[in-house]
Amino acid sequence: MTDRRGELAIQLEKVRGEIAAAARAAHRQPEEISLVVVTKNFPASDVEHLISLGVSDVGENREQEGSLKSSEIQSSINWHFIGQLQRNKVKSVLQWADVIHSVDRIELAHEIVKRAAGRSQKVRVLVQVSLDSAPGRAGAPREELNEIASALANSPMVELSGLMAVAPLLEDPRAAFQRLQSIQADFMSDFPEAVWCSAGMSGDFAAAIEFGATHVRIGSSILGSRPTFG
Ligand SMILES: *Cc1c(COP(=O)(O)O)cnc(C)c1O
Repeated sequence: MTDRRGELAIQLEKVRGEIAAAARAAHRQPEEISLVVVTKNFPASDVEHLISLGVSDVGENREQEGSLKSSEIQSSINWHFIGQLQRNKVKSVLQWADVIHSVDRIELAHEIVKRAAGRSQKVRVLVQVSLDSAPGRAGAPREELNEIASALANSPMVELSGLMAVAPLLEDPRAAFQRLQSIQADFMSDFPEAVWCSAGMSGDFAAAIEFGATHVRIGSSILGSRPTFG
């Protein structure tokens, strides 16, 4: 058996170093950037190892998997829902997620406001913006951000926290994240509290940090290539 914890420790340390280096290169403080480790398709035992290595934020992209895994973890950490969200899953996501990154339709905003009403703690919500002109991809067009954010900002149990984006596949991520930075600057003139910028994955987090990411979502660089189930 390989020493899984040792393996994760090495990869985590490497990624933390790369985040710090990217921050310094951008004249930012490494502490300004939060690492969300994306544990989708990996078992709860990996989450336990990561917690023992100081990880406090974990991301999942499927409701069922996140619900199950979070129920197996006793420590109180922050669970981030980063996947495409369906309206009929909002209620269950709210039972385990502390942060939802991927609200990209007004109907999801309304459903979150409705379902968050009974919570004892606020849920943080990010609006996902599309950096892609191709239709059908995840993320709202920038013209729709304000309407979605206004609906969220109306609720006392929702904390509108910022924007989330994924760089388009066929574009230089630096160009995409530069666009995101300017979209966020506009957005913040209406929603000054929305300071989080969730951007950057294993392949492009240095570029995201260069253009202002506050939260990077990193999976495979830390956990290895994802096993596929079924
Ligand atoms: C899977 C996933 C990630 C992490 O991707 P890696 O390339 O494994 O780092 C980040 N963000 C979202 C939305 C994802 O679905």
